[in-house]
Amino acid sequence: MPFLFFHYSEYLKGSTISSTVKAGNPIDNIMKTVLPFFEQVNFNFDKAAKYTNYSPGILNEIKICNSVYHMTFPLKRDNGTIETIHAWRAEHSHHKLPTKGGIRYSTLVNEDEIMALAALMTYKCAIVDVPFGGAKGGIQINVEKYSVGELERITRRYAYELVSKNFIGPGIDVPAPDYGTGEREMAWILDTYTAMTSDKLEARACVTGKPVEQGGIHGRKEATGLGVYYGLREACSFEEDMKPLGLSSGLEGKSIVVQGFGNVGYHSAKFLQEGGAVIIAIAEFDGAIYNTQGLEVGKVSDYRNENGSILNFPDAKTMKNPSEALELECDILVPAALENQITSENVHRIKARIIAEAANGPVTPEAHDILKNRGTLIIPDTYLNAGGVIVSYFEWLNNLSHVRFGRVGRRFEENSRKDFMMAIERITGKRLPENEMKRLVYGPEERTLVNTSLEDTMAVAYNEIRETRTQYGNGIDLRTASFIKVINKIAVSYMELGIFP
Ligand code: GLU
Repeated sequence: MPFLFFHYSEYLKGSTISSTVKAGNPIDNIMKTVLPFFEQVNFNFDKAAKYTNYSPGILNEIKICNSVYHMTFPLKRDNGTIETIHAWRAEHSHHKLPTKGGIRYSTLVNEDEIMALAALMTYKCAIVDVPFGGAKGGIQINVEKYSVGELERITRRYAYELVSKNFIGPGIDVPAPDYGTGEREMAWILDTYTAMTSDKLEARACVTGKPVEQGGIHGRKEATGLGVYYGLREACSFEEDMKPLGLSSGLEGKSIVVQGFGNVGYHSAKFLQEGGAVIIAIAEFDGAIYNTQGLEVGKVSDYRNENGSILNFPDAKTMKNPSEALELECDILVPAALENQITSENVHRIKARIIAEAANGPVTPEAHDILKNRGTLIIPDTYLNAGGVIVSYFEWLNNLSHVRFGRVGRRFEENSRKDFMMAIERITGKRLPENEMKRLVYGPEERTLVNTSLEDTMAVAYNEIRETRTQYGNGIDLRTASFIKVINKIAVSYMELGIFP
C-alpha cells in the first residue's frame, strides 16, 4: 500500500518520474531535486490518509486526476510566423460539479504542474465548503513575449478548444484567473464561450474573475490576498499557538517578508500592513527590497507601476538575489509566488517562525518536515489561499441568479434600521452623531457582503482545521489536519453519490 510509507526520501526514491525538475521558479532559477509536484501533493495526502479508515480504493479515487486535456494549437504571430502553443486543462475531481480553478500563463506550465494544482483546488474547495471539484488550466507561454493581440488570439483559441471538448461551462468546469492571467483574459474567455454556446442565459457563469461590468463581483480581485490576511489574523489570534513560537498573539507589529508582488502578494501585503503588521521585505523575480522599519506597500506598488520594477525603491535596501529575502530574520514569511520555493536546499537558512502559504505548493514535503521539527508553524496553501475560489463561488452564484448580492432588500434593511434608531432617539430624547447613525443603519452593498462572508469562511475553516489537529494529537500539523478533513469530506460525498455503497 504505497500510501503507508511516509519517509520523504524513500518516497523520492520510489518516484516514477524524474525527480530532478527545474523548480517552478523564476525567482530562484536553479535546478533542484524535488518530487514532481503532483507527487508532492499526493505525498501530503497519503500522510493524512493513514489517520483515516477508508479503503485504498476510495483513497485512490479521491487522489486520482479524473480528466486531463493536453492541447496544441498554432498561433500566427504578428510578424507572420507560426508558433505551436501547448496548453492544458485538468479536472481533478468530479465528486462535485462544476469543477473550478484558475488558468495560469507561464513557461513553467506542464502537465504535472496542472494536475497538481487541480488536485490542490479539490482540497481547497473542500476545506472551505465551496461545492466544486478542483480543476486547473495552463498555457506554456511567457506573457512578456507576446503582444496583446497575440495574447487575445491564444486565449480565445484556448477557450475554443475547451468548448469543443466540453471542458468549460457553468455546470461543467469554470476557469478563473491565476498566475499570469486576470480580468482581461477572463473577459476574452467569456466572450468566446458566449459566442459558441446556445445557452446564452447562463453563459456568464462559465468563468469567474471577470471585470465587474461583465458579470464579475466586487472584491474578487483582492479576494485571495484578503483571505490570506483573514487566515493569518485568525492563526495569530491564539495565544497558546503563538507562545511556543516566542510570539505574542495578534498581527500587530509582526515583521513580515512577502515573496511575489503580483495580485496575491500585493494584496496580502496591503491588508497585512493595514492590519498592523510590518512588511520588512518584498521579493520579486529580479531582486528584493528591504527595510526593517517597514515598507509602504501602496508606495512600492506605485513605484513599480512607474518604473517597471520594485528595485531601487527609495528608503529601502535593494537585494540583487531575491532568494536572500526569504532567509531574512522575520516573524512571518509569506511565499506568494510559485511552487517549490522552500526546499531541502534553502530550508536550513529560513528563519521565519510562521510560514503562510499564499502560493500553491511553495514548501516541498521534505522542507515541511524539517520546518515542522524545528517548531515552525506552517499555514497550508489548501486553506490559506482559498479566498479567491471562495469569492469566485459568490460570483458564480450571482451569475446564475442574475442579481447582485445586496440589490434586493438593501434599502429596505437600511430604512427599517433607521426607523428603529429614530424610535430609540424619540424614547430616550438623545440624538446620535450623524456618522454614528450612518454606520448603524448601513445596509450592506455587494463588496461588504462578499468581504464579511470571506472573513467568516476563513475563520470557520481555520478553527475546523485547528480542532482536527487537536483531535488527532500533538504530532499532527495543520497541513495534515487539513488533509484529514478533506479526505473525510470528499469520501462522504462519494458515498452520498452511491459510488462506494
Ligand atoms: N487561481 C485561484 C486559485 O488557485 C482561483 C481559482 C478560482 O477562483 O476558481 O485558488
